Amino acid sequence: MTPCILVTGGAGFIGSAVIRELLTQTFCVVVNVDKLTYAGNLESLASVSDSPRYHFYPIDICDAAALDKVFADFKPAAVMHLAAESHVDRSIDGAADFIQTNVVGTYSLLEATRRYWSGLPEEKRVAFRFHHISTDEVYGDLEGTDDLFTETTSYSPSSPYSASKASADHLVRAWSRTYGMPILVTNCSNNYGPYHFPEKLIPHVILNALSGKPLPVYGDGSQVRDWLYVEDHARALLEVLNRGTVGETYNIGGHNEQRNIEVVKAICDLLEELAPDRPEGVDAYEDLITYVKDRPGHDRRYAIDASKIQRELGWVPVETFESGLRKTVQWYLNHPEWWQRILSGAYKLDRAGTVKSQ
Ligand code: NAD
Repeated sequence: MTPCILVTGGAGFIGSAVIRELLTQTFCVVVNVDKLTYAGNLESLASVSDSPRYHFYPIDICDAAALDKVFADFKPAAVMHLAAESHVDRSIDGAADFIQTNVVGTYSLLEATRRYWSGLPEEKRVAFRFHHISTDEVYGDLEGTDDLFTETTSYSPSSPYSASKASADHLVRAWSRTYGMPILVTNCSNNYGPYHFPEKLIPHVILNALSGKPLPVYGDGSQVRDWLYVEDHARALLEVLNRGTVGETYNIGGHNEQRNIEVVKAICDLLEELAPDRPEGVDAYEDLITYVKDRPGHDRRYAIDASKIQRELGWVPVETFESGLRKTVQWYLNHPEWWQRILSGAYKLDRAGTVKSQ
């Protein structure tokens, strides 16, 4: 029987990349469970959603009964858990949704998984995987040239977002330790690439520049992030799911530390080359850079040691920051229909009637 993977948050930025990868590179059946918050966009799955191996359910992971039914109907061999509230600024404005989805939702999903998993025959119970996808932000931040985050770095989250993800990571590990559930945890650095929601730094800068709006940079722009192209992340997740050691954590990173201001300037340089017809009144894209008040609790530097996944699973990113950023800028230039429908809100209107059942 073809194995089935239950993906939560598959209409989001990384989840949609994972589903595209699963449907184009494997023979798996994919069940996408996604509540479709503002961040969920089924149009990111347009290239694969006609596949007979793809199924979508607009379900909240806090809804235990609905999850039980999906488990009973599809009998998945693995869960890849990506559903989350993911935007740090929103978590500072209001943490309730972050606690509800990232903590309570993860608990609800773990319990639904346990009810299903504990009823499986021995062979399937052993082979089952619960893969929890998390962030390097759980480790807090690094000062200057401190060591990199490793899988044993202690947790020190700074924002409501990272604290809620840290809580989820602890719950997942407790379900392994207490109930023996076969889990995998991955903690990844900042992703970028196609289908990234326009509120995040890189698409926000690209789209503001194209319409001649200010390019906001927090503080002095010296915060350092380690950037990973989203398709490299999706490939890493499949490697971990297929070959990772049960119970283990793998850090995933791009070996691409960049200061935020360097990222913004690199986007401006690419736009000068790829979109030379600037908006009226703009002499150079860089002139749009505007420094704004820093966000409270802003982490200075994240940098991840991804040597374990390289050593044990042979995974390395395909894209450099230069190649990935060029692809990303070109993608936004080539796909205005995708981001214009988000900016206008139209992407939310066509969601009814999209459920496709087995
Ligand atoms: P995203 O915000 O783009 O997508 C999240 C998806 O989850 C959306 O489709 C949303 O509709 C869905 N969702 C939210 N609440 C839900 C609920 N209660 N029930 C069901 N679905 C729900 O996020 P992303 O950037 O794709 O991140 C995916 C995962 O990867 C998150 O867990 C995030 O913490 C983690 N992560 C993200 C990054 C990054 O740079 N974006 C880096 C490392 C780890």
